Amino acid sequence: MYMTESGWKQVDSNVKEDIFHFAEGYKAFLDIGKTERLACGEAKRLAEINGFSDLESKESLKAGDKVYVVNRDKSILLAVIGEEDVQKGVRFVIAHNDCPRIDIKQHPVYDDSGLAMLKTHYYGGIKKYQWTAVPLALHGVVVKKDGTKVQIDIGDKPGDPVFYISDLLIHLASDQMQKKATEVINGEALNIIIGSIPAECAEKDTEKDAVLSMLEAEFGICEEDFLSAELEAVPAMQARDMGLDRGMIVAYGHDDRVCGYTALSALFETEAPKKTAVCVLTDKEEIGSMGSTGMRSAFFEYAMALLIEKTTGTYNELMLKRTFHNSKCLSADVNGGVDPNYPEVNDKLNAAYIGRGLVITKYTGSRGKSGTSDADAEFVAEVRNCFDEAGVLWQAAELGKVDAGGGGTIAQYVANLDVDVLDCGVALLSMHAPMEAASKLDIYMAYKGYKAFFAMK
Ligand code: MN
Ligand code: MN
Repeated sequence: MYMTESGWKQVDSNVKEDIFHFAEGYKAFLDIGKTERLACGEAKRLAEINGFSDLESKESLKAGDKVYVVNRDKSILLAVIGEEDVQKGVRFVIAHNDCPRIDIKQHPVYDDSGLAMLKTHYYGGIKKYQWTAVPLALHGVVVKKDGTKVQIDIGDKPGDPVFYISDLLIHLASDQMQKKATEVINGEALNIIIGSIPAECAEKDTEKDAVLSMLEAEFGICEEDFLSAELEAVPAMQARDMGLDRGMIVAYGHDDRVCGYTALSALFETEAPKKTAVCVLTDKEEIGSMGSTGMRSAFFEYAMALLIEKTTGTYNELMLKRTFHNSKCLSADVNGGVDPNYPEVNDKLNAAYIGRGLVITKYTGSRGKSGTSDADAEFVAEVRNCFDEAGVLWQAAELGKVDAGGGGTIAQYVANLDVDVLDCGVALLSMHAPMEAASKLDIYMAYKGYKAFFAMK
């Protein structure tokens, strides 16, 4: 089912109906899961509806059991226990649920020129100029000194106010327009307007005072509480159908919730597989997978050790190493689709096209495969066969021309654990922009592909 033309020509009206139906669930997930914490919470909620329970609360596990482990409310590992011993190998599909965004600094609030502002530090690789002059929502948590956690979500509910990073008017931008795109907007100029009406109290009469007293009245938080907060500004826009034919979805966060949601949906439909099936939604991929919630964290090994201990009643290091040695993984992450406005960045023979199905990428990296995990030909052949047998429409591609740039995924970190890994995901347009675009057919084929992989013998 390798595609060198539009996948839409290969599907009948029943499949088309399934494709459009699947897209509705995905759009709802995107609108709820705008941050890694919100996406993790929604994944857990959906998992519980689908019969999954907390792994740590289980004494032991048997074939067919469905469990999850949440890591610090930001990443989640879910498993359906297989008929075979875990040590015979696991089928992993690993996606990430963090997305490029604008984080709020620790000392954020100030006022200037009649406006109350928030200082920010952007997260992940963005074209900074794309994030100005668009409505923004704020999501996250503020943890007070006594440990109380205050959830903040402003800007995505109907009727909510939104926030905004201003850009220079074109009339006064003659100097700015001469700058390189990387310098058009300075990182320290990504300050968010949060208010404009000064306070009324005699001693505290600024716009900043007004904002702080509103935060205190509504959420019970004070200025110092920003020190232990994780607040994220994201586009205050909903996922929308795109095109007269509604064949695509424009949304914030396709990278990588498109692979996360499809992998989750695939796992939810996986009943008593031969091999244990594991889906991970990891965090911090956009900044190098570092930290306790990233893919380089020992959390992954901890959760797998728990699975071994609870399925066999015992545990040692060799059992964990044997499990990884026999396992196979799809690193479920997005690729760049050929953009008709910028054909020059791709080798057309080895590029991903919108609407031609799920993309497999044997190696990523940049400039001479630097920093890549290059999947073995043997494993690629196995996945090809698996997809073809399941009627999955798919294509094979690299990300861009050899010297054009490149990028990495979590593949290398999982491969380092002695697991066979292949990058495999959905092609996007405008990756890392506030609103990215993806084809509904490709999204559906990702779900079908991951489902077939979970069932692979
Ligand atoms: Mn990604
Ligand atoms: Mn990315």
